[in-house]
Amino acid sequence: MNDTTRKRFPASEKLLARAERVIPGGVWGHNKFPAVYDPTGYPWFAERGEGARLKDVDGNWYVDFMCGYGTMVNGYARPEVDHAVMEQARSGDCLSQATERSVELAELLVDTVDGAAWAAWGKGGSDATWIALLTARAHTGRTMVACVDGAYHGSHGWCAWCNPGEGRRPLDSHDVTTLRWNDVAGVEQLFAEHGPRLAAVVITPFHHPIAGSAVLPDPVWLRALREHCDRADTLLISDDVRAGFHLDLRGSHAYFGFRPDLVAFSKALANGWPIAAVTGTEALREAAAGIFVAGTYWNSGSSMAGAIANLRLMKEERSVERMHVSGEKLVAGLLSLGELNGVPLRVSGPVTMPTVTVDDDQDFAWMRRFAVHMAAEGSFVHPMHNWFVSAAHDDEVIEQSLDHAARAIVRAQEDLGGA
Ligand code: PMP
Repeated sequence: MNDTTRKRFPASEKLLARAERVIPGGVWGHNKFPAVYDPTGYPWFAERGEGARLKDVDGNWYVDFMCGYGTMVNGYARPEVDHAVMEQARSGDCLSQATERSVELAELLVDTVDGAAWAAWGKGGSDATWIALLTARAHTGRTMVACVDGAYHGSHGWCAWCNPGEGRRPLDSHDVTTLRWNDVAGVEQLFAEHGPRLAAVVITPFHHPIAGSAVLPDPVWLRALREHCDRADTLLISDDVRAGFHLDLRGSHAYFGFRPDLVAFSKALANGWPIAAVTGTEALREAAAGIFVAGTYWNSGSSMAGAIANLRLMKEERSVERMHVSGEKLVAGLLSLGELNGVPLRVSGPVTMPTVTVDDDQDFAWMRRFAVHMAAEGSFVHPMHNWFVSAAHDDEVIEQSLDHAARAIVRAQEDLGGA
């Protein structure tokens, strides 16, 4: 592909200019900070998705490795899931009472997720982590929570510590303390200092910090956490919002071999339809029944119908296994391209959620250029967030993207003369 066939984004740029007049920052949420990408030369607005591909408002198609930030696991617009959603919506979506779908979905989650005796609902990941924490506080009668340095658990007030910036005050994160990932001595210290006051320790199943390399859990650290939690009557919460159903249908704790008391899910549960779930052990049923926490849309049935259809599809089609095979191929290909071009490219985290970094890449400058060139070639990636591989990323899709990456690496090197 030469320069004349590289993608252009006039419609996106026009829409961004319009958006900046009426939406603070132009794009709300993940891509808000223009620092992530170049303000020009990037597909800011999407029009549709199909399988593993995304189409922007300029009519360009991309192989999408962000997968709706991990919500899409079985391909965009997957008919089986969308049909179930529409069917339910035809009877009304947000009704005044819960629907039978909520019971069916809870039954399915209890059958599917390791250690789950019950399930409860929210709409987004921040709801799920908050509900899990409230349940832990109700069960233990304590308020303090420990989280891992650099982790992200959502946008609610208690997460102010992981959402730095204007508008956040230390008071929002009152009674939150931190520990370091995989630091066994740190666990001892945490419990020695705070054990009797700790309602919960919240961890992600592997460390995927807000920006930068991912780190897998050390089984010794996981064991130390579990033992100390048991001894202090502190609960262990797995925030599986991002990783859930990308590593193992039984929950990512089953993949890594640990036993949480509560698990928070959202992103991948309904292949992009909005829903979150918390699952818990039998011992926590009463505490969960006793808390009052609610959201207007939390019982709406259509996303629940979507989640049921999506989980069934994942079981039937062995989606997670296929994601692992495609992820292996992508990661191997990227690493060999790095080697071929003399770029110290690293891939961390599980292959279905690879985090791509380059050694000594100040402010992700190299990765930013790489992401821009990947978009110009026809693959959509993020320079500092993990990517996602879905079950729709088949061999052909991965090969096409590796072809894009081969050229994008050369161009990023030309721009920056190395990392
Ligand atoms: N926990 C983790 C691990 C997440 O990655 C996210 C979202 N990126 C959240 C919680 C919050 O989810 P939401 O944005 O849906 O509120």
